[in-house]
Amino acid sequence: MQYVASAMGSLASLDVPLGPRTTYRVGGRADLLVEARSEHDLSRLADALAGAWPDGVAPVMVMGKGSNTLVADAGFRGVVVVLGRDFDWVSIKGTNMSVGGATSLPVAARQSATAGLSGLEWAVGVPGSIGGAVRMNAGGHGSDMAAVLTRYRSIDLATGETVERAADCLELGYRSSSLKLTEVVLQVDLELVEADPDECRQRIAEVVAWRRANQPGGSNAGSVFTNPVGDSAGRLIDAAGMKGRRIGTAVVSKKHANFIQVDDGGSADDVWTLVDVVRREVMRRFGVELVAELRMVGDFVPSTSSRDGGL
Ligand SMILES: Cc1cc2nc3c(=O)[nH]c(=O)nc-3n(C[C@H](O)[C@H](O)[C@H](O)COP(=O)(O)OP(=O)(O)OC[C@H]3O[C@@H](n4cnc5c(N)ncnc54)[C@H](O)[C@@H]3O)c2cc1C
Repeated sequence: MQYVASAMGSLASLDVPLGPRTTYRVGGRADLLVEARSEHDLSRLADALAGAWPDGVAPVMVMGKGSNTLVADAGFRGVVVVLGRDFDWVSIKGTNMSVGGATSLPVAARQSATAGLSGLEWAVGVPGSIGGAVRMNAGGHGSDMAAVLTRYRSIDLATGETVERAADCLELGYRSSSLKLTEVVLQVDLELVEADPDECRQRIAEVVAWRRANQPGGSNAGSVFTNPVGDSAGRLIDAAGMKGRRIGTAVVSKKHANFIQVDDGGSADDVWTLVDVVRREVMRRFGVELVAELRMVGDFVPSTSSRDGGL
């Protein structure tokens, strides 16, 4: 780790808390965090990782806005990469919108609406980055990234190779893509549709209002599980009687059963334990295997509070 830290100089920080970089705001520390300010920094990082782990894949993780990520209380024993301000930009030409990998989705959605471009209004309610949205094929309100993404540019930290490819290469599916864990999305091209800016802004206002009415606040990472085919994870969790179920500092939202919230200063391991309890209860009651949409990072241990949670 020291080797990579030395190679990256002032861009690297040792022993960094990750909780504040996620919407859950809990969890432990990373051994090393590197903030890349340019593609050149990422090439240097790829070289440093190859030097430090000559015989295998480096334990590396890209982090965007941390809105789909839960970091274990024990932290992450590896290198976390974040993209700096040079990756936060939007450029519009005609109906094409090019966006940097670190750009906030809600910001991109609002800018597209102001420019009279339709197709990204749903994204105003998804508090992630463009890079995270590509990896997850984020979506909502009947659309997703796959509907608008035409090209992307990425670098693979395992090889240092930069590629520009058509969106088809990503095999985007329901909250999934074929991006490698070591691949960092640097920028994307989105194809949108000309529309009346006032109508676009109206749709944005409707999405915001719907979110306020239907989703809880507090510390969470959106939907914990993907929806099983033909059903909704929230409906199943609710029907299993899990709304309001608490393990230590984590609780299943009473407003939306597919959201798990955590108390301020709470424990990521409590959240992880509750995710497992919910999954097992839905399997026991309905024989349906819920699949986590939430990315869980690091080594979790079952929460001691789970003994009080009626497991
Ligand atoms: C209140 C709330 C509501 C939400 N609603 C929705 C919703 O409606 N629909 C939906 O799909 N999601 C929703 N989410 C989840 C989340 O916002 C999305 O999954 C989002 O796309 C994650 O982006 P991020 O930058 O926060 O990713 P992170 O949480 O930082 O990372 C998620 C994954 O993406 C990877 N990643 C991040 N940046 C890059 C990059 N530049 N290149 C390559 N990989 C990268 C990470 O390595 C990780 O595997 C919601 C979350 C919250 C908190």
